[in-house]
Amino acid sequence: MLQKVLIANRGEIACRIMRTAERLAIATVAVYSDADAGALHVDMADESVYIGPGPASQSYLQIDKIIAAARETGADCVHPGYGFLAEAADFAAACATAGLTFIGPSPQAMRALGGKAAAKQVALQSGVPVVPGYQGDAQDLATLIQAADDIGYPVMIKAIAGGGGRGMRLVSKADQFADALESAQREALGAFGEARVLIEKYIQRPRHIEVQVFGDSHGNVVHLFERDCTLQRRHQKVIEEAPAPGMSDALRRDMTTAAVRLAQSVGYEGAGTVEFLVEGGNLKHDAPWYFIEMNTRLQVEHTVTEEITGLDLVEWQFRIAAGEALPLEQDDIAFGGHAIEVRLCAEDPNNGFAPSIGKIDEFDILEDDGLRIESGIGPDGGEISPYYDSMIAKIIRVGIDRETVIDDLRVDLQDVEILGVKTNLAFLYELLGHDAVHKGAIHTGLIEENLAALTPASPPYSAIAEGTRALMAEQNSAYAPHARDANDPFNRDDAFQLGGARNTKQQLFIDGQPCSVELTWMPEQIAVTIDGIDAGVIEPDLVTGEVISDIGVMAPLSQVDAGAAHVLSDMQHVTVSWPVYDVHAIDMAGQGNTVRAPINGRIARIMVKSDAHVEKGDTIAVVEAMKMEHVLTAPCAGRIAQLYVGQETQVTQGTVIVSIETEETA
Ligand code: ADP
Repeated sequence: MLQKVLIANRGEIACRIMRTAERLAIATVAVYSDADAGALHVDMADESVYIGPGPASQSYLQIDKIIAAARETGADCVHPGYGFLAEAADFAAACATAGLTFIGPSPQAMRALGGKAAAKQVALQSGVPVVPGYQGDAQDLATLIQAADDIGYPVMIKAIAGGGGRGMRLVSKADQFADALESAQREALGAFGEARVLIEKYIQRPRHIEVQVFGDSHGNVVHLFERDCTLQRRHQKVIEEAPAPGMSDALRRDMTTAAVRLAQSVGYEGAGTVEFLVEGGNLKHDAPWYFIEMNTRLQVEHTVTEEITGLDLVEWQFRIAAGEALPLEQDDIAFGGHAIEVRLCAEDPNNGFAPSIGKIDEFDILEDDGLRIESGIGPDGGEISPYYDSMIAKIIRVGIDRETVIDDLRVDLQDVEILGVKTNLAFLYELLGHDAVHKGAIHTGLIEENLAALTPASPPYSAIAEGTRALMAEQNSAYAPHARDANDPFNRDDAFQLGGARNTKQQLFIDGQPCSVELTWMPEQIAVTIDGIDAGVIEPDLVTGEVISDIGVMAPLSQVDAGAAHVLSDMQHVTVSWPVYDVHAIDMAGQGNTVRAPINGRIARIMVKSDAHVEKGDTIAVVEAMKMEHVLTAPCAGRIAQLYVGQETQVTQGTVIVSIETEETA
C-alpha cells in the first residue's frame, strides 16, 4: 500500500481525503498558500508545505512547487482532489516522471477524455449517444455558423476546455451567434488558455444525470450507479442526489452500461464520472439521452454515491492507484435509501449571488444520524478569501426515502449556525421546499425560472435591530441584556431615565450601506426604526438575558467583532457596523465621480491611464474575485484625475480605483 500522500488541494476535499488516508494508515502532507496559512486542512495534515501566494496560479497550480513539496517530504503519491490540477494531464505526467504515484487516471486517458470534443469522439466510437453537434478542428466563423445552421437553433456554444459552466453560451437566433461566439471564446481563453469551441444542439428542459465509474489496472471497470445533478444555477450544480428521482430501471441499465463501455474503451483507471443529459425532464425508458462529457477525477458530489452504496470512494482511489484490483465486482455493488447534498456557499442571493468574502467567526451544525458535513472550515471559523471558490461546506443527508431526506435536510439548514458572511442557506431551504423539487419534476432551468420565489426577501428588520442593539451593547452596557432580578426597578439595564422613553439615533452601516437607525427604549422593549421605517421591536428578556425578536420565538444568533455585529436570523445574515471613514472617500465626498471596487478582489486589468478622457460607460478596470470578473465602468464622462491602484493590486470592497474630473468639478 501507499505510505505517504501529498494532497495537492485545499478546503473540504483536502480534509476529506486526509480522513480516509488516516484510516488506511497513509501519512498526509498538506500544501498551502499564504491565504490558507491557518486553514483546517493544514491543521489536519501530519506535515505541511508552504507553496506560495494566495492566487492559485502562484500556488496550487504550480506543478514544480507541488512536486518539490512531495519530494521534500518523502511522499510516494499525490492526490489532486478536484479542480486545480486534478484534470491536468501534464501534472499527472510530471508526477510519474518524479517517481510519484498520481491518484487518478493515466495522462493518456486524461488527454483522450479531457477535452469535450475529444471525449465526444471517444463516446461516438464506443457507440454512446452524444448531443448532436459539431466538434471539428476548423474554428473559422463561417464553419461554425454553418454548423449552427445545420444543427438548428437554439444551439449551445461550449469551450472545449470549459468547466464549471464557463465558456458556455446559449444562442437562440442566428443573428446572435457571432457575438455569443466571441464572448465565449474570450471567456474560455481567459479562464483556460484555450479558445476552441464546439457547437451543440440545445437540449430542452434536460435532467443532468451522471454515472460514477471506476476502473483498475487489471482491465476491470464497474459503475456505482447514477447521481442527479439537475438543480443548477448558471450551469453550476447546487443540489445533487442519488439515486435520480423517477429513474426507470431500463434507463439506468442503458446509461450505466454506456458509461462502463466508454471507460473501457480508453482503459480507464481510477474514479471517473460520465455525464449525460436526458431531454424533457422524465427518466422513462424511452427518454432521449446524450453523453456530454467525462470528468476524469473525483467529483464534488461523490458523497451521495458513498452514502447510498456504503463505500468509500477515496479508499477505492488509493487502492487502485496502489495497483490493487477493484474492491468489488459489479454484482456485489448495491445501493439503498436516498442521499442529497446541498452546497452551502458564501454568497448573497439578494445581490445576484455575489460572493461574500470575509472571516467566518463561527460555524456549527448539530450532529445527527444520517447527517454528514464536509467542510474546510471548523467550528471556530475560518476565512472565505477572494482567491478560491465560495463553498463553505457540503451538507449531506442520507435516509430511507427522498421525502424524509428533504424534510430532515430543511431542518438541518435551520439549525446551521454561521456568522461572518452571507450564505445561501435560506435559498437552499426554499429550493428544497419547492413543490416541483418535492415531486422530482425538475429540469436544469428550474432555479432560473423560479428565481424570484426562491430568493428570500432581504434580511428581516428584527435581525438588523438585534445587530444594532448588540453593537451598541459593546459600548454601553445599558443596551446589553443581563440575567438580573427583574423585580428590582433599580437593577434593570433598560436605560431608565426620568422624562419618558430614551431615544438614540445612530448613523450605522447595514451590510456596508449607510443607514440611520433609531432605538427607542421602552420598559420591556426596544423599538427600532431604520431609515424612518418602523422595523419592529426586540425584547431582551431581563431575567434570562435572551433576546427575542418579534418575528418569532427563535432568538437570533449574534456576535460582535471588531466594530461589527453579525446576526443570523431566519437563515439570513446581516452585518451592522459603525461607519468607517476612508481618507479617499472623504476627499472625494459629494463629487460622485469615483469608481470603487464592488468586492474584495484583485485588479485584473486597468483599462485607462492617468489624464485620459473617458466617456460614460467606458470600461475602467476589471476586478477579479472568486473566479468571476467584475467590469467597472465610468459613471460619467471626464478626465481620469487620479489612478489609485495598479494592475494586480489586491483591493477591498469600497477601495477607490480612479477619480474622474468632469467639467463641473475641474
Ligand atoms: P462544464 O464542464 O462547464 O460543467 P458541462 O458540459 O458539464 O459543462 O455542462 C454543464 C451544464 O450545462 C449541464 O449540466 C447542462 O445544464 C448545461 N448544458 C450543457 N450542454 C447542454 C446542451 N447541449 N443543452 C442544454 N444544456 C446543456
